[in-house]
Amino acid sequence: MDLIVTKNVEKQYENGVTAVYDLNLTIAKGDFVFVIGASGSGKSTLIKMLYREEKPTKGEITVGGIDVSKLKNRNVYKIRRKIGIVFQDFKLLPRLTVYENVAFALEVLGASKVEVQKKTIQALDLVGLKAKAKNFPNQLSGGEQQRVSIARAIVNGPKLLICDEPTGNLDPVTSIEVMKVLDDINKLGTTIIMATHDKDIVDKMKKRVILLEDGKLVKDFKKGTYSYEIV
Ligand code: ADP
Repeated sequence: MDLIVTKNVEKQYENGVTAVYDLNLTIAKGDFVFVIGASGSGKSTLIKMLYREEKPTKGEITVGGIDVSKLKNRNVYKIRRKIGIVFQDFKLLPRLTVYENVAFALEVLGASKVEVQKKTIQALDLVGLKAKAKNFPNQLSGGEQQRVSIARAIVNGPKLLICDEPTGNLDPVTSIEVMKVLDDINKLGTTIIMATHDKDIVDKMKKRVILLEDGKLVKDFKKGTYSYEIV
């Protein structure tokens, strides 16, 4: 079954720049997809439209059966609850512990204390950081901080995990650790979309690769590599 379907999607920003043209894309439930392309090719715009940070100017986008292009602002929370997001710069709260950073994502949804505790510990276990629950972010390595941000993104059991350059601030060895965690999460059934410039990672993982060029989808390979086009 398809989790994401985009039909003739276009995004023109108010300054007249068209960042995405006539995009037709389907992503199946459980898929792992890399979105690659040069800087300015439209990767972030595409990703932002999926979680309704940006609205397409033409076309239709459905995520988990919800038409996000038509969603009213007051209903955006409905889609945000189905999607976890991981950013390049982690965005952890520095004054909260690892545990609190992850638990907070559930507390704001009104989960009970018992549920918060159970799910937070499960998520930290999944990313291999249960032992560091009491640490503060600045006591962790970059890779560990990114794993906390992944735990926070998945603690609510989202169907889709969107990662925007998650290894952009990490060294190659740490990046591989982060990718192992993402692979585990994908194997448990979460669909993953990851925008990246990280050639080594794309080549190693052998997942579906979508290449954008000047806002157009120009290549879509089932088990792709980075090197076939961008030089
Ligand atoms: P990428 O993520 O591949 O670097 P982006 O989606 O950020 O690409 O950008 C695609 C194009 O849209 C670029 O030309 C960029 O300058 C433009 N763009 C991105 N965000 C905005 C915005 N908020 N307003 C106007 N133009 C934008």
